[in-house]
Amino acid sequence: MKKNNEMNEMVCPHCRKKTSRGASECHGCHATIQYGPPSWAFPVLALESTIAGLMASKFSHEVSFFIPWLIAMGAFAAGCVFLEKIFYDRVQFKLGRRG
Ligand SMILES: [Zn+2]
Repeated sequence: MKKNNEMNEMVCPHCRKKTSRGASECHGCHATIQYGPPSWAFPVLALESTIAGLMASKFSHEVSFFIPWLIAMGAFAAGCVFLEKIFYDRVQFKLGRRG
C-alpha cells in the first residue's frame, strides 16, 4: 500500500503555502480553514425537511399525527448524511482580518 501524503496536504489559495488537512488555520496567512458543508446548508436542509413534513401531514393526518414529524426528521437525518458526503472534500480558506 502506497502512502499518499498529497491527500493530507492542501495549498492555500491566498498565500500558496502548504497546510496539512485538519488544520483550522493557514500557517502562512492565517486564513480560517473550513471543512464540510457550508453553514447555510443546514438551515436550508431544516427548512426543506419542515416542508416535507408539512406536505406529508396533508396526506397522513388521518393515520397518525407524528408520521409527518418522523418524515421531517428522517429527511433531515438523510439530508445531513447527504451533505456530509457531497461536501466531504470541500475545503474553504477564508481570509479575514482579525485583531
Ligand atoms: Zn494562506
